[in-house]
This record gives sequence, C-alpha cells and structure tokens, in this order.
Amino acid sequence: MTEIIKDLRPRVEKKISAMADARSRTTLSFYRYVKIPDPVEFRQRLLTKFTELGCFGRIYVAKEGINAQMNVPTDNWDQFDSFVQAQAELKNIPYKIAVAEGNLISFYKLTIKIKEKIVADGLDDAAFDVTDTGAYLTAKEMNEYVNDPEAIVVDMRNAYESEVGHFKGAIKPDVDTFREELKIVPEMLKIHKNKKIALYCTGGIRCEKASAWLKHNGFKNVHHLKGGVIDYKHQVEKDKLENNFLGTNFVFDARLGERVGEEIISHCHLCNEAKSDTHYHCQNQICHVLYLGCDDCVKQKQGYCRTWCLLTDKLPTKFKKLFARYYNRYFRAAQFRKARLRQSA
Ligand SMILES: [Zn+2]
Ligand SMILES: [Zn+2]
Repeated sequence: MTEIIKDLRPRVEKKISAMADARSRTTLSFYRYVKIPDPVEFRQRLLTKFTELGCFGRIYVAKEGINAQMNVPTDNWDQFDSFVQAQAELKNIPYKIAVAEGNLISFYKLTIKIKEKIVADGLDDAAFDVTDTGAYLTAKEMNEYVNDPEAIVVDMRNAYESEVGHFKGAIKPDVDTFREELKIVPEMLKIHKNKKIALYCTGGIRCEKASAWLKHNGFKNVHHLKGGVIDYKHQVEKDKLENNFLGTNFVFDARLGERVGEEIISHCHLCNEAKSDTHYHCQNQICHVLYLGCDDCVKQKQGYCRTWCLLTDKLPTKFKKLFARYYNRYFRAAQFRKARLRQSA
C-alpha cells in the first residue's frame, strides 16, 4: 500500500492506529427480538458493564430487542460472556464472531442508543405477524438452494453491499436502504410466488423481519440463512463445505469488509475498469459519497470521487460554505442516491 493510500483510510482507522493501548480485541455481533419493557434501565446495565470491560461498539436497544456490533478486549472475553449470559434478556444469545483481518479494529468507542426499532425497516409491526418468520437454513442447506435451479436466492442487503460480494446467482435488488428493499422485493418476486425462496443478509437480523414480511405478502416457501454471511463463512470453514459466496462481506464498522470468497468481483467506480472491492468515502466532506476505488484512481484523484470534488474542496472556506448550500440543494439529489456513487450505465 503506498503512503497516500494509507493516508486516505477512514479517519476512525487512523485514530485506531494512533491508539497506544491497542489491545487484542474480538469483534462480534449479536441480535435478538425480545421484549425489553424498560430500555433505559437495560441500556444502563449494559453501558456500565461494557465500559468497565473496555468494550467498544455500536449497540441499539429498543422495546422490541437488541442489535449489537462490538468488540471486546480478548482478555476480558470470559467476563463479558458470563455477564451477557446472566442477563435474562440475553441468555443463550448466539454470537457471530468476526473474522480477524490484520490489525484493523472494528470500533474505537462505545455507543448504546435507544431506538424505536433495532433495524430501520419502515414497516408497521402491528399490521402483520412479525413472529411468523421463515425457517432457518444452515450453510449446507443454503448451498443446496444456491445449486438448485428451481430455488430463488435473494440478497436482502443494499446494492453497495451486494456489489462487492454475494451468493452465486442471487437476486440483488438495486436499493440503498432496507426500507426500499422491503418495498420492492414482494413485487420483484411476484413471479416466483410458488418457488422455494432463500433470503440472506450480513448477520441474519434483516431476514427475520423480511421473511415474516414476505410470508405476510403471500409467499409460502420462505427460508433464511441463519446467522447470515458471517456465520456461513464459519460453517464453510469448519465443516469444509463448498463456498458459494463470491467476494467480500460488507460490514458496518471501520473495517467495511470481511473476505469470504477469494475473488474480487466488483470494479473501481472511477475508471470502471480495474477490479476493486475497497470502499472509500470521498474526501470532500460536502460530498462524502461511498465509492469503490482502485489504487491508481485513488492516488490520482487524491481520495476524491472525481476531479470536481477535488477542485471545489480546495476553495477558501467561505466559498466552500456557500457552495455546500448550493450543492446540497441542487446537486446531491440529482447526481447520487443517498451515499453511493452510481455506476455509470
Ligand atoms: Zn480505477
Ligand atoms: Zn465527491
């Protein structure tokens, strides 16, 4: 990695490298739909203990459950585990342990937020039976679905996630949010209503809701990959199964990706030629778009998504402010969808 590219890493990553006490940490995620009548009290319980143990991460707590992505100093793992298991709401909760990737640390601070829902899905939970979820699939069963021409495999993640990694032959809706996805998937799958359907996502949480939503929409044969792609990778390695996931599993922490398949399946958004599955945020804070960049392009454009962003970012501050206002009002919506650079068609 050349110097300039190293320097363009996300800011969090730089902070992490600067941390003198970089202890060995285990990154994990877990979630559960469980009734939490008093999220404030529950949050405080977790916050106190996790702070004491030096855990970092991003945890959402709601009346409907918990969704946690975090790391734990490996020395404190046993204490962490016995605390979690001692909480009635969390007893026997399955952990999804992330694959260690070099020295990259997933989180560098701890935030626990109280939310309306643990995943923003835009659904009215009172309008359908959220507990009527699809049956789980193991990694081995998922492989059978992937290899079965009669079965339909659907990626329940966003386009910027499925672009860098997905199951062979999966349907990958072109959406930027889970809300949009839930809106269009029942329509997209209409012609497959009587087929066997397998859903998957990063760690399984989105499919809990999505499978119940599809069943509510009249799909009878809905299944989903238990533990998502994270757990799939573990099972493939442990049981020496065939790996049908190509590329990288996008993760929502400073690492941005976990390699599953050996190959790189996506291309640089700047040249549309070189292969790349490395995400960057445009260095121009007004833009900040998420894009895939190859080393050459990132170097040439100095970490900006295009020359225009590079030039405008060099303007004096007072012009930049004016410009930001103009940009946000007229340009952003027209050029980009949310946070991702559109691939030129
Ligand atoms: Zn390129
Ligand atoms: Zn930009």
